[in-house]
Amino acid sequence: MSQNGPLGHIAIIGGGTAGWMAAAALARVLGRHGPAITLVESEEIGTVGVGEATIPPIQAFNAMLGINEDDFLRATQGTFKLGIEFIDWLRPGHLYFHPFGDHGVDFGPVPFDGLWHKLRSRGLAGPLEAYSICAAAAAAGRFARPTQGDNTPLSRISYAFHFDAALYAQLLRTHAEAAGVTRREGRVTAVDLRPDGFIEAVTLSCGSRVTADFFIDCSGFRGLLIADALGAGFQDWGHWLPNDRAVAVPCAPGGSFTPYTRSTARAAGWQWRIPLRNRIGNGYVYASAHLSDEGAMATLMANLDGAALAEPRLLRFRTGRRDAFWVKNCVALGLAAGFLEPLESTSIHLIQAGIARLLEMFPTRAFEPADIRRYNRLMAAEFDSVRDFVILHFHATERADTPYWAHVRTMEVPETLAERLRIYRATGRVFREADDLFTKTSWLAVMQGQGLTAEGYDPLADGMPETEAQARLERIAAVTAASVQRLPSHGEFIRTRVDAG
Ligand code: FAD
Repeated sequence: MSQNGPLGHIAIIGGGTAGWMAAAALARVLGRHGPAITLVESEEIGTVGVGEATIPPIQAFNAMLGINEDDFLRATQGTFKLGIEFIDWLRPGHLYFHPFGDHGVDFGPVPFDGLWHKLRSRGLAGPLEAYSICAAAAAAGRFARPTQGDNTPLSRISYAFHFDAALYAQLLRTHAEAAGVTRREGRVTAVDLRPDGFIEAVTLSCGSRVTADFFIDCSGFRGLLIADALGAGFQDWGHWLPNDRAVAVPCAPGGSFTPYTRSTARAAGWQWRIPLRNRIGNGYVYASAHLSDEGAMATLMANLDGAALAEPRLLRFRTGRRDAFWVKNCVALGLAAGFLEPLESTSIHLIQAGIARLLEMFPTRAFEPADIRRYNRLMAAEFDSVRDFVILHFHATERADTPYWAHVRTMEVPETLAERLRIYRATGRVFREADDLFTKTSWLAVMQGQGLTAEGYDPLADGMPETEAQARLERIAAVTAASVQRLPSHGEFIRTRVDAG
């Protein structure tokens, strides 16, 4: 085969969510006439096994694989998610909602955030949640998929899922194997390099070798190929995001069956609550510099909605990303590429984004350096912008009640975030840069929810007379509230439209 020809064989190392997402997607897109794909995983090592909340782009990923959404929800104990409720983040007793979708307003050239700030400062606008169909539906515990072909709040419902990560990996495995992927069970004990530094093969503990032209490192935090073999560096973000551990435990269903994730701030971190059909996923993400494992476990166990269904699991992690995600003939995906704590449920999305970009810049055996540089540049920008968004939640707070909160509130933040904060404080403006994952709705919801106040407002808001703007906001809030009443409860929707469908 020529040095420039198409790839003949791809080896994916690791069979967690990242490995099976990559295997299923590549097999689907490259087809049976494309390169052979082998996935190596080790049952003995196992997977991280958490990762239960997602964001809306996952719908497109499942659709690309040809997975029917109802089948997917039934196979994974899946439920719907309209956003995240943040409790006690600004101060104890405070609550706000970060919704998916938009604020349901189209004022043409006049930006919603500008109008809202202007009217809010004069006491003429309601809380942000009143203008978001996702926030309003979540507060009422209601859900439906968006209506098609009209322009009502109900057509703007945007949603993602909660699911059992292990069951999702199994579903992906079924699709991948049906599309021709070969699974090898075994522990990789050595990575063999060619004289030019490219990976030639991995050796398994049984002594056999898996050779390939292209390797995808999905081996988890360690980064067996990208870091251990190829030496990619790691940017540690622990000084901005000091949480480095989590305890996780499932419990029996209890409390409300919410169509959203709940995040509750705690003394040295925060606790997640993710409702599946058969259980609730819970975890306390915390900074080991501020809290012992026993302390975290005790707080978690004291704050469950139902009886614990298993022993709590302790997970250690390091927050940050690789300097380079693609080195020579190896791309890292998932935890091998980097990790941001799950506050905004972005890890699975970053795997999806990595796969999408890899397909956009899919290599031949020539491994075009410009493609590799572009891939690394775009993925770095995506990780960095998610990092800034996550830091915002911790930094913009009134809390100083524990050393942990006193630290995160006063720490220096990346200049890119500091700039956003300056702009918001002066003008109330939020913006989405080129490849930012989070929209203006997200930035506005969290900036406002975390208590940042804008001194001014966008002068473009003066493009609409105040009385007209007020009337339109009132109408949107009224139509949104009325629309929510037409939705079934989250449980009823699953029973009657997903399971019966
Ligand atoms: P892993 O699950 O660690 O899989 C690694 C694979 O590599 C395994 O199959 C293992 O057997 C294999 N392997 C490793 N070494 C070898 C070897 N030597 N030989 C052979 N095989 C090997 N993400 C979200 O999107 N939403 C969330 O709500 C969310 N919550 C999270 C909560 C916590 C506390 C943590 C830590 C993560 C969370 N994540 C979440 C992230 C999510 O869990 C991961 O992004 C996702 O599971 C992908 O993991 P992975 O496949 O990269 O790694």
